[in-house]
Formats: sequence, structure tokens, C-alpha cells
Amino acid sequence: MKSFSPLFDELQRALQVLPGVGPRSAQRMALNLIERTPREAKTLASVLDQALNEIGHCQRCYVLSETDECQICTDAKRDHTRLMVVESPGQLLAFERAGLHDGQYFVLNGLISPLDGVSPDEVRIPQLLGRVREGVDEVILALTSSVEGEATAHYIKSQCPGITLTRLARGIPMGGDIEALDPNTLELALGARERWS
Ligand SMILES: [Zn+2]
Repeated sequence: MKSFSPLFDELQRALQVLPGVGPRSAQRMALNLIERTPREAKTLASVLDQALNEIGHCQRCYVLSETDECQICTDAKRDHTRLMVVESPGQLLAFERAGLHDGQYFVLNGLISPLDGVSPDEVRIPQLLGRVREGVDEVILALTSSVEGEATAHYIKSQCPGITLTRLARGIPMGGDIEALDPNTLELALGARERWS
């Protein structure tokens, strides 16, 4: 493509760092920002810059936070005896949006993956174990149902003797068509069947 402005090209390339944004959408976004909404674009640039400078991680649960300890960790009204382990801040937000968990969280930095050489240290397992040793009644593993999720769950279990560990039920999603499910999901769902009467 013929370039009319090297900076414009650079902006298009930079926008493609966003998930799901290819060259065409990046071009549309860049044109929109520069031509239609320059004032909002300036706000976006300054908020982004400030966010990058000021947002870090809570030193207790590792969710994104501007303070050493986040609002969830310092909220006395929440249940501090139940600790939910998730693998990303996005997953924490999903539970918070649903309002389903009023306990504490611990955010891993992804999942252990022996095949990809991702070790327990790299996903904050030592920090998690330190947090668990401070005393909790229940650790809820809310991890993705995958080989890596299983590896991570089993490793945590091996390191937490005597701690009550629970995990999310695995199986058929709401509205899921049994015919369309893969054999692994069917096997998990059947294995986790519950008594009905
Ligand atoms: Zn926190």
C-alpha cells in the first residue's frame, strides 16, 4: 500500500497489537481517530499513557491495581476464608461481574505447561502457596478445562496437603448440544454426574 504519512502507517501498525484487529480495521480505526475524533483520541492517548504508568499488580492477589493492595483484598465485608484461584485478571472480572464469589482471589500468570516449558514459578505458584499458608478454609480452583489447567490443578494439589481444594464442575455448558460435544467433554460430564433422586 502506498504510504502518504509514515506516522499514519506507524499508527496503523501499532493498532494491530489489539486482539482481533487486522490491517483493514486498523486503518479504519486510525482514520477515525485522526480525522473524526481527534479530541477523544488525545484523551485515549493520555489515559493509556497514565494507565501504563500507574497500574500495577496487587501484592496480595495480583489483580491489576493502582495501590499495593487492591479494593477486593482490603474489603473487610468480603469472606477472607475462601480463596478463588483464576488464571487471568479477565477471569476475575467475569466472576465479579456475575457477582458469584464474595471471597478473595489469587490471579495466576497463566497456567503451567510442561510442553511449552512454563514452570510453576513463572505462573506465581510460589506466591499462591505463600498466600494459602497465611490461612484459608477453602481454595477454589477456577481454571480452564485443558491439559494445562489439569497440570496446574494437580501441581497445586500436590503442594497443598491438608488444604480443602475445590474446583469448578466440568461438563456440558448451558444450552450445549450433546451431539456437538467432543468426547473429552462428554467423558468429564459423565464422570461428574450427580445424583438426581
Ligand atoms: Zn488484591
